[in-house]
Amino acid sequence: MTTQSAITGNTTVYGIIGWPIKHSLSPLMQNKAFSAAGLDAVFVPFAVEPKKLPEAVLGLRSLGVAGFNVTIPHKAAIVPLLDELDQTARLAGAVNVVKNSNGKLIGFNTDGDGLVRSLEHDLGCHPAGRRVLLVGAGGAARGALVSLCRAGAAEVCILNRSAGKAAELIASCTASDMQTKCSLFDASLADQHFWNRQELIINATSLGMNGEDIPQLKIEALPATASVYDMVYAPPQTVLLQKAAQRGLKTANGLGMLAAQGELAFRIWTGVMPRSGLMLKTLTDFFVLQ
Ligand code: NAP
Repeated sequence: MTTQSAITGNTTVYGIIGWPIKHSLSPLMQNKAFSAAGLDAVFVPFAVEPKKLPEAVLGLRSLGVAGFNVTIPHKAAIVPLLDELDQTARLAGAVNVVKNSNGKLIGFNTDGDGLVRSLEHDLGCHPAGRRVLLVGAGGAARGALVSLCRAGAAEVCILNRSAGKAAELIASCTASDMQTKCSLFDASLADQHFWNRQELIINATSLGMNGEDIPQLKIEALPATASVYDMVYAPPQTVLLQKAAQRGLKTANGLGMLAAQGELAFRIWTGVMPRSGLMLKTLTDFFVLQ
């Protein structure tokens, strides 16, 4: 078991790069999982300014860091700096996990599969055959769209502040051989019939972190069987989730996704899954103690 005081010359180093990075809970849950698995490894946060990303990646490579997470704002910018991408990261055009394989940096995307696992586990809602309204077109939405299509969603409609970014995302999905029908949200066509057809709403924007609502979403017009997922987990109950819960809809925040993407990253780095439920429990305990 490695604690920070037990780091030796043999300790394997993992980390996370982002800007800012102080808020990240990945060091907490990954270090807990390394300890529980009896691995001589440590996971550290690295604050990397956007303009210093190329230097930081060279540094991580030359220091022999065994693997690292990538978070806001580097998920797309890191793509050309890596040696190889797995299929999900290539389709998404976004990377949240890098593995250093004998000096070769390989990019992966576990955000989308983490989301799908959390949808099943926390909402009891597998996307297969469902009509999904995805809000956002940033790094998280990119990974989400690939995994929703792979999981067999019937339709994904994308609503984003910058419609051009949503259109790009739809074009990349349409260019692949996914069967899911992807479309751009059109406010002029979003009548009662449109809202009544939506089965799963997913917020993949940062709206909600500071008490913001997403006014375009007509929660009151959704069917009673709809589910609402918010990737935001701090605060645990966003305005979106409050409104959905008041209507009696099934809701979940992004804590389960955070844990699930972390478990999949741990497996990419170490070859084994961490102890079941440990990462989610670590995160939940953290918020209870806040
Ligand atoms: P990102 O690449 O920076 O994308 C941000 C997204 O939010 C874009 O769609 C952006 O729209 C939208 N947005 C930001 N400010 C907005 C505003 N004021 N009004 C309307 N839209 C706004 O970030 P990301 O990596 O996709 O992350 C998005 C969110 O998901 C964050 O809250 C992040 O913490 C969360 N997340 C959670 C998990 C998890 O495990 N739970 C994993 C990944 C991400 P534009 O395109 O118009 O700029």
